[in-house]
Amino acid sequence: MTTSMIVPVIDVQSNNFKELWPAMLLAIKTSSFIAVDTELSGLGSRKALLAESIEDRYKAICHAARTRSILSLGIAYDTYLVQVYNLTLLCAEEYIIEPQSVQFLVQHGFDFNKQYAQGIPYYKGNDKGGDVHGQNIRTLFVELLRARRPLVVHNGLIDMVFLYQCFYAHLPERLGTFTADLCEMFPAGVYDTKYATEYELRFSSSYLEYAYKKCKLDNCKLVTAGGSSPILFLEFCNYSGHLCSYVDYRPCFEESSQDGPQDVCLRFSAYGWCPNGSSCPMSHNTDLIIRQDEKTKENKRKRRKKRKQKAGVQDKDCLSPNKKPCLEDGSSEPKEEELATGTCPIAEAEPVNDQPQVEEECPADTRMSIDEGNGGNGVCEPQSMPAEGADEINPPGGKTTAQAKKAESGTHRAGFDAFMTGYIFSFACTLNHSPNQPSSETETRLPECLNKLYLSGKSVPLQIVKSTFSKSSKAHTHKMEVVWRKS
Ligand SMILES: [Zn+2]
Repeated sequence: MTTSMIVPVIDVQSNNFKELWPAMLLAIKTSSFIAVDTELSGLGSRKALLAESIEDRYKAICHAARTRSILSLGIAYDTYLVQVYNLTLLCAEEYIIEPQSVQFLVQHGFDFNKQYAQGIPYYKGNDKGGDVHGQNIRTLFVELLRARRPLVVHNGLIDMVFLYQCFYAHLPERLGTFTADLCEMFPAGVYDTKYATEYELRFSSSYLEYAYKKCKLDNCKLVTAGGSSPILFLEFCNYSGHLCSYVDYRPCFEESSQDGPQDVCLRFSAYGWCPNGSSCPMSHNTDLIIRQDEKTKENKRKRRKKRKQKAGVQDKDCLSPNKKPCLEDGSSEPKEEELATGTCPIAEAEPVNDQPQVEEECPADTRMSIDEGNGGNGVCEPQSMPAEGADEINPPGGKTTAQAKKAESGTHRAGFDAFMTGYIFSFACTLNHSPNQPSSETETRLPECLNKLYLSGKSVPLQIVKSTFSKSSKAHTHKMEVVWRKS
């Protein structure tokens, strides 16, 4: 059983953007869905981003999107061959870049020299002058809308707001107007794989790397088991000639090596994030975390079976056993309870199935008060990436090589994150697909997840709808004319 694969990520910057333009357009037009991810220069007040009122949250994200910028954009196209692009961008207007974001990005291999020298320039807000027709990132975004493909994000509310402000138009003041606009921009729907992971796949954790690796593992099990259940099969483009020089081959090995601490960091395992970062003495190794979760599930299953045999009782499986994973073999205590009694300040979090919560009392200087740092916008998300081994968990004092390794693996993060997002979506669709039903491009793939954006700490998602009370924004209406004029 192997889950190893090598993911080619095409590195796009200002000196090859025009050369790659036709290839990117073709990928957009032939894709069945498009997954995106962003790296941001900052997010502003973390507390405001988690405001109780969603309208207030929207205001806080809008403020961030107006004052900060997108540093890089990852796009994964699901065509008959998977294609992954990582675009390095440079906002041409003044913007705030937060020291903690710089630190985080540098630690993860983001190359600021390259960004300033080779970033693809763009301006934010409404269209200006002749750029509507040129080959630039804003017109690429227009092409993406024209293609009318489903858009896939992971914990994507912040991504959506930033994409709108950076590549589309000035953000509307009200959330209702924003969602009404999104409705028309993406008629094929928006899907949030964090929502899908929590409510459709029902994994123990839903941070991006966990969800991706668990999907990969489950798919592998299906392959090994044979049978008639649908499986996910990926093929990547074979790049040749000149193009090769732009491709970064991202290996993601079956499993990282087993050195390093063997005790799982509870906070990391629940949220994909831990304030101790690389100096945490506990393991942040997602492979190890998944292995332990699997073991726990298996043990639970065995115990239930034993109990049944003993008592001769037929008990029904509990609704969502995977949301309350045990910490260790033989322990029936759920992680969350462990968290509550342990050292963790996320004590009250309790991300039970119906009430995924995040702690809201995080000190402002902690990088992530949003769980898993909104799916890896570079501002918040924690460390480990699929490619490297267990040495991402640095023993105190032994940081140098591990950090160098980490830096390597962190390049093209947005691209690879977009790929992982697309993988989760494809896998969830595969599971959801009934073999008796002929699939068509227009059919809704994950009806339960259509147009629902995950909201940290809320039991209900943000619905992307156009309500009878909300009109579209003026800027959007004007923009739609531009979008549909040419095609
Ligand atoms: Zn930790």
